[in-house]
Amino acid sequence: MENHANQSPAIPKWSALLIEAVTKPGLIMKAYSVFHAYSIGNQLLALVQCQRRGLQPGPINTFPKWKDLGRFVKRGERALTLCMPITCKRHDEDSDEENTFTSFVYKARWFVLAQTDGQELEPLTIPDWDAERAIKTLNIERVPFDHTDGNVQGFARKRQIAINPLAQLPYKTLFHELAHVILHTSEGDFTDTETTPRTLCEVEAESVALLCCESLGLEGAEYCRGYIQNWMSRGSASKGDAIPEKSAQKTFRAADQIIRAGRAEVPESHF
Ligand SMILES: [Zn+2]
Repeated sequence: MENHANQSPAIPKWSALLIEAVTKPGLIMKAYSVFHAYSIGNQLLALVQCQRRGLQPGPINTFPKWKDLGRFVKRGERALTLCMPITCKRHDEDSDEENTFTSFVYKARWFVLAQTDGQELEPLTIPDWDAERAIKTLNIERVPFDHTDGNVQGFARKRQIAINPLAQLPYKTLFHELAHVILHTSEGDFTDTETTPRTLCEVEAESVALLCCESLGLEGAEYCRGYIQNWMSRGSASKGDAIPEKSAQKTFRAADQIIRAGRAEVPESHF
């Protein structure tokens, strides 16, 4: 998601998409319900393009994939743009070796169901999601909650998390602490009271919690939304820059990891 060099001006930045998701309740849930095979960033990208063009959101596939499914793209339809990873090779002068690395490019290759015609499709099913499976797959350990301060909702230490058994929004706190492990605990421990300083790390963790709660339809999204909006309104930056682009990218990536880790089966690889 780093490379914006090939991006057309019509494609919003990740920070702008995240702010859309924060300010429009229901957007993430809608995107997940139809585009869950794709990363959250691409789900929102697809949904925003559908809305701008007045297209009914639905399954998306490339031209050849629609053909395989017995459908064809209608004449004159313009493809939607998604961000896809590509593997690049770089020649290392010193060791004389070929190194591979992943880069991200924007390609206009996808068409939504409403842009196609032909054979009926099987109805979409939303994959099951399980918290314990997610924790295990992420190689994170849930440890007993041993804080005596009742205001502490949860904490993250290296690859361990603990959630207060009396946490007001246990799923929200779980996602928040998982995000700290994925994004931050190499920088130190995180103990989350109700009055944790509102640093950028907290906004990133709370944004991950928002994306996960709303995608999966679990309680807590409204609380996250309030927290992030409050933080944004206190920033001196203009609204559009309130969440740095790099933080938005980290947030989308961590939320994807958590959601994919909790699914029963990994669907064919989508990005
Ligand atoms: Zn925190």
